[in-house]
Amino acid sequence: MELPRTLIIGIDGATFDLVKPWAEAGLLPTFAHLLKHGAHATLNSFPHLLSAPAWTNLVTGYNPGQHNIYNFLNMGRTNSWHPTTARDRLKPTFWQLLADAGQRVGVMNVPITFPADDTNAFMLSGMDAPDTEIRGFARPAGLVQELRAAGIDYILDVPNVGQMVQSGVKTLPPVIRDMTVTRTRAFLHLLEKYPCDAAMVVYVAGDRLSHYFWNESPPLPDAPEWKPLRDLFQLFDAQLAELLAHASSDTTVFIVSDHGFGPVKLAKYGLNDLLQRLGYQTAGKPHSGNRVLRDLLHVGRRIVPLGWQGRLAMMFPRAHAQAARADKLGKFQVSKTKAYAMFWGGVRLNTVEHSPDGIVTDAEYDALWNELADVLYSLYNPETGAPLVADIYHAGDYFRGPWTRDATDLLAVWDNRNVGHALGYRGKGQNIVLHPSHPRANWRGVHEAEGIFIAYGKGVREGVAHPPITHFELAPTVLWMHDQPLSDDLDGHPLVDWFEPSFSANHSVTPRAASAYVPGADILNDAENERVEHRLRQMGYIE
Ligand SMILES: [Zn+2]
Repeated sequence: MELPRTLIIGIDGATFDLVKPWAEAGLLPTFAHLLKHGAHATLNSFPHLLSAPAWTNLVTGYNPGQHNIYNFLNMGRTNSWHPTTARDRLKPTFWQLLADAGQRVGVMNVPITFPADDTNAFMLSGMDAPDTEIRGFARPAGLVQELRAAGIDYILDVPNVGQMVQSGVKTLPPVIRDMTVTRTRAFLHLLEKYPCDAAMVVYVAGDRLSHYFWNESPPLPDAPEWKPLRDLFQLFDAQLAELLAHASSDTTVFIVSDHGFGPVKLAKYGLNDLLQRLGYQTAGKPHSGNRVLRDLLHVGRRIVPLGWQGRLAMMFPRAHAQAARADKLGKFQVSKTKAYAMFWGGVRLNTVEHSPDGIVTDAEYDALWNELADVLYSLYNPETGAPLVADIYHAGDYFRGPWTRDATDLLAVWDNRNVGHALGYRGKGQNIVLHPSHPRANWRGVHEAEGIFIAYGKGVREGVAHPPITHFELAPTVLWMHDQPLSDDLDGHPLVDWFEPSFSANHSVTPRAASAYVPGADILNDAENERVEHRLRQMGYIE
């Protein structure tokens, strides 16, 4: 078996908050080995806390203002909501650039990569694909069938973890184990059949499980409430060991997550109510059609497998657009609203420039921004009195490029040590205390900024703990290691100082002029839509 020179292993939602204590306790021997004999840093994903932009940042080296992926739903250039796929991405991934240069890259399950690219080796798309049978899921076509013939039943995703929690699961659900183990088997099978210069695989179970099985208590090695996640990370550790067993002394390995995780803090979910109390939003009944649609969307999110929600939305683009809008803006009249909060605590201004229902003019923007920053800085924890927001940034501090218009206007850094379940505001002669509830009652964990980044193997300086890095370094580093020139508009730079001088000396940083923003190939035709519709009808999801 010819082995890739570069191996990237993604673990969605992994954080050193779990990895380090469990590695130190002897539960994760492979992680412990990698930390000791590799180099590592916290990966700071703020303010790109969603998996869709986060993974796209990682594999392109560009911020969303340049690559145009902000969320799983994209309003994008057409001003109409649709589920995000790789065709919305306007900057190339590292594997596209390597493939253009004649190198061979294996890619498996990276979010927002449907349809798959021709990588001169193999590629299976990620969670934005409707299913594994659809045309464009795999390149070359027929990989899924090929795996099946080899006894490997590839599992794209597990949509119903919430139902498992409701049924009282206390250990790692078998379907999560199956999905994870099958991914490794499939990856190794394809690596053997299609030799690669570089390869990347992403495990998504970390994210799926952390949402439901996170805890407020410390992750002690024997705490029973942490058992499902501990089992999962031990399973990841075993996958790493197996993958490393197939790496040679010529392989450099990266283990990376897209964001970290932490407990749900309900205070953050009270922001829209507070903005309404303070007059920045006007309450209003969403009209009945919208309410129905919103409810449908919620039900849809619970029962429709993740990959199929996109298909459903594409079949009913107008209904989904209204539902998505009602879902996000449901409790207030959009045309009488100046600002609204994003779920993670940022605030967006309803500007004339960016929305058909926008009411905030350019002339008002700065004063309103400052007013809202004052509101955020005046938030406190009613139990302790501690302030909740440590810093606030402008969109322009973190986003740049032609599509920065979709960026959140006020990027608030919440001081998670101080944030609890109640939201207090003191200002303008008012003292308001709110006790918000979570829109998804059985969620226990939410994304936080601190992800993981570990480098190990060929060329890597051993045992170094580096200062935090961002999403934008991985792609330039891989391109540099594979002797490709680096576009001069990349947001990151190669991590040259993570490597031994003897390794760095063999690779040069060569700039090149930036390429144009190129949308990906179009995806589905009517016949394919009909196929999916037929299957959804069979399952009873649509009439
Ligand atoms: Zn994620």
